[in-house]
Amino acid sequence: MAETAPEKRLYIKTYGCQMNVYDSERMADVLRPLGYAVADSPEDADLVVLNTCHIRERAAEKVFSEVGRLKALKTARAADGASMTIAVAGCVAQAQGAEIMARAPAVDLVVGPQAYHQLPELIARTARARGERLAADFAPDAKFDALPAQRVVSGPAAFLTVQEGCDKFCSFCVVPYTRGAEWSRPVAAIVQEAEGLAAQGVREVTLLGQNVNAYAGEGPDGRPVSLARLLYRLAEIPGLERLRYTTSHPNDLGEDLIAAHGDLPQLMPYLHLPVQAGSDRVLRAMNRKHTAAGYLRLVERLRAARPDLALSGDFIVGFPGETEADFEATLALVREAAYAAAFTFKYSRRPGTPAAALPDQVAEEVKAERLARLQALIDAQQTAFNAGTVGRRVRVLFERRGRRPGQLVGKSPYLQAVWAEAPDSLLGQIAEVTITGLGTNSLAGALATTPAAAPHEVAA
Ligand code: SF4
Repeated sequence: MAETAPEKRLYIKTYGCQMNVYDSERMADVLRPLGYAVADSPEDADLVVLNTCHIRERAAEKVFSEVGRLKALKTARAADGASMTIAVAGCVAQAQGAEIMARAPAVDLVVGPQAYHQLPELIARTARARGERLAADFAPDAKFDALPAQRVVSGPAAFLTVQEGCDKFCSFCVVPYTRGAEWSRPVAAIVQEAEGLAAQGVREVTLLGQNVNAYAGEGPDGRPVSLARLLYRLAEIPGLERLRYTTSHPNDLGEDLIAAHGDLPQLMPYLHLPVQAGSDRVLRAMNRKHTAAGYLRLVERLRAARPDLALSGDFIVGFPGETEADFEATLALVREAAYAAAFTFKYSRRPGTPAAALPDQVAEEVKAERLARLQALIDAQQTAFNAGTVGRRVRVLFERRGRRPGQLVGKSPYLQAVWAEAPDSLLGQIAEVTITGLGTNSLAGALATTPAAAPHEVAA
């Protein structure tokens, strides 16, 4: 749920031209969802922005003397246990940003005219550096914000939250504001909960986090433990036969996690690894901090470790400024990566996120047309992946009864829904199933009669 922000006050002092007046209004707009209302004077403000102009004589000196006055206010505020943030924006920030930061430590951040859309991120990072939580007024975003609800365990598969928050600040996403900084639960608490789930008959656990592979929970010796090490530890729990994790950022996928995909039989060969776009220009605008080629190299290394890995992803089409050539780059990436499944979205403006303030928003009909083309490609890849499992024997965890009497429905290692004629005694159990056909949303299977000797739950 979104938190209701305690009201914060913003004072912008605007120097110079009409353009700066307009920019100050834009800054107030992008900061409003962070809970900032406009104040009449710096004395009343939690955040003061000096929107500077270089044309004026001795512009920089005027900024330094204004910062001096604000520093006195900031010091007085600190004596009362409160904080004040000082930002310098505009042309002087652009031209002399480094000098300002060096000469005036009271200034918390400097932002040039081309980067006003990054103000929410910069303010959130400043608050975090002080150990403050920025209570934002964003409505949560179902696409990225919502983790599946922890459910009361009634079947053999369960979710377990291990991490919350995100430090990535993708420019379209509210999570870093709504959920705050990355935070990981200690290993001991997770192991205890997982053991409890296993004792209740849970066979498969999906570890959840907004940026789950940034997991760095406290281990037994007090030091942080990576997601890979956590997975190895959970794999020791008797009865817990399957592990999954979601959602990941490519930049946090370390060597040890790639290796775990190769040698941890409990770690299922299905990975949701969002990329969002295939054009480096768009990825930069999205502030994703990785390239398309870097993502594809990761996929290659993951498949070297686990050749049958089923890859899933997220895509946003129609991001501001996306051209037809950019979109073609996304299609090219999809063709190369070969997805077993993916979630596709049209870009929609989230007020207050940096991307909402970007120019060149893409027309709705263009977005819809690109979404349809991308979806058709992904549907074809999904069908091809599913068809590739027909005739193979896979281990299915039966989770519930099917629509017809005598049927059970479960999940393959690749997260495909599979139904088969099977006795109720197999509910909650893993059984070998030969895939016999493709349905619209599921696969048909038949219980295998002879045991298969296959690693990683799959027989060829
Ligand atoms: S990685 Fe990006 S999209 Fe994912 S939660 Fe963090 S900011 Fe949002």
